[in-house]
Amino acid sequence: MPIEVEPNLKSVLSNMINFCPYCGNQFDKPIKDGISQCLNCTRVFDCSNYHIILSAAWQTRKQNLDLDRIKKIVPDEDFANFVFYLVDQACYNHEELLRLLEKFSLIKNAKM
Ligand SMILES: [Zn+2]
Repeated sequence: MPIEVEPNLKSVLSNMINFCPYCGNQFDKPIKDGISQCLNCTRVFDCSNYHIILSAAWQTRKQNLDLDRIKKIVPDEDFANFVFYLVDQACYNHEELLRLLEKFSLIKNAKM
């Protein structure tokens, strides 16, 4: 069952990093902005869409999130769909997702 969120809480609940984008370590408190470091793997990350996607992907794997719940932590609907279809439906693991994101960046930066 999707969790209902009160309208005034929606902005608080959007754009959150709850899990380390790199190792999947769960944080005590959600990270909403700025630059942070994971105490488990020591990787540094910001709250860019790239890291939000990777973090939401870990959360989806670990907590079996449905699309409605993913949308509450990933504010952009396209990115929420991206996470849902790749991780929940196609069962992409962390390495596969990283590789795909890397391919997108190669395509975008390729000289035509
Ligand atoms: Zn980590």
